[in-house]
Amino acid sequence: MMPDPARAAAALAEASRIVCEDAPHEHQPVVGPIYQTSLFTFKDFAEMQQAFAGQRKDGYVYTRVGNPTVHDFERRIAALEGAEAARGFASGMGAITATVMSVVQAGDRIVAVRHLYGDAYRFFEKLLPRMGVKVDYVDGTDADAVEAALPGAKLLYLESPTSMVFELQDLERLAAAAKKYGVVTTIDNSWATPIFQKPHMLGIDLVLHSASKYIGGHSDVVAGVVAGSAAHIAKINELTHPFFGAKLAPVDAFLLTRGLRTLPLRLKQHMDSTLTIAARLKAHAHVVKVHHPFYSNHPGRATLMGYTGLFTFEVDETIDVARFSDALKYFRLGVSWGGHESLIVPVAASLAQTPGVNSFERFAVSPRAIRLHVGLEDVETLWTDLETALASSLKT
Ligand SMILES: *Cc1c(COP(=O)(O)O)cnc(C)c1O
Repeated sequence: MMPDPARAAAALAEASRIVCEDAPHEHQPVVGPIYQTSLFTFKDFAEMQQAFAGQRKDGYVYTRVGNPTVHDFERRIAALEGAEAARGFASGMGAITATVMSVVQAGDRIVAVRHLYGDAYRFFEKLLPRMGVKVDYVDGTDADAVEAALPGAKLLYLESPTSMVFELQDLERLAAAAKKYGVVTTIDNSWATPIFQKPHMLGIDLVLHSASKYIGGHSDVVAGVVAGSAAHIAKINELTHPFFGAKLAPVDAFLLTRGLRTLPLRLKQHMDSTLTIAARLKAHAHVVKVHHPFYSNHPGRATLMGYTGLFTFEVDETIDVARFSDALKYFRLGVSWGGHESLIVPVAASLAQTPGVNSFERFAVSPRAIRLHVGLEDVETLWTDLETALASSLKT
């Protein structure tokens, strides 16, 4: 059950080389400039004509379509994922919608894992049926069940680990099965980051991230990105990215590249603190379950080279979840994750906001489940916070 420290260290070392590369700009700055411009001009008619014809390397025309600061970020993500190309977006959902819609059309069917991210699920449930696209949900842990659903499908949508319950999928096997049936594969890789899991190198076509989480890492940017083959990314550039308009802003791309530089260091800290806290919660008298991939026996665990700080635990009936939440000082109540700060989402509180989407039934967790993000604060301070809050929330 121990993580392989050498494997995680090798992944972190390789990533730190990529993220610390200087930006290829005039004057060789260590930090690339922010091209805060909506358009680019040309010195003459011929140059403009060549740019419009796509005959100039990096022939930037208009920032909705392309921008050097954004491109610098995209290049680093492609390198980290071992992919030919990447495309940045204004949000993770921007990346998800543009990617899915570049693949499917009316009459097509998607196979998706059942515990996918809430707003991806809502997009699948509310919008796709209006466009004549059907989604079948499968238990992603059961590779036979996924494979049985594939014939005739157009797209396989994975998320490993999944939201809330962090179930794993066997990526290599599912990528091979999908190829056999001509099904395009996508995965939401936000949890593992492009450092701890590289699905494209295992045969998955398109790898999505909410860059708002670990990649940005400072809780000051909402952004997304997708990486894949040059041909797949070209299709997104041709069919969806310019028209949906969810382009990544240059200043946000700058912040993301800055975030990437410390991603290896931050991940090491998130992993160390999380494994300590998860183990102590697991041993706690009033904790009945810890949903973290570290404790999974699923073969999908083999492709994770390290572990990050988002997981769920369930307390027993003697704990008052509202009182526990209010007693915490360092873990603050808030959505999102991947930043420096520790956060909790009690499932019972988030339910009121999104009935049906984050339902206990969909995730099959108890109303006493609490999602937790372990931030970069001192680990003993965080543990004392949790232990004290648990002790003070016992029902009398
Ligand atoms: C947050 C999140 C998203 C959506 O990303 P945004 O940047 O908020 O649009 C997608 N997938 C997962 C797993 C997420 O946690």
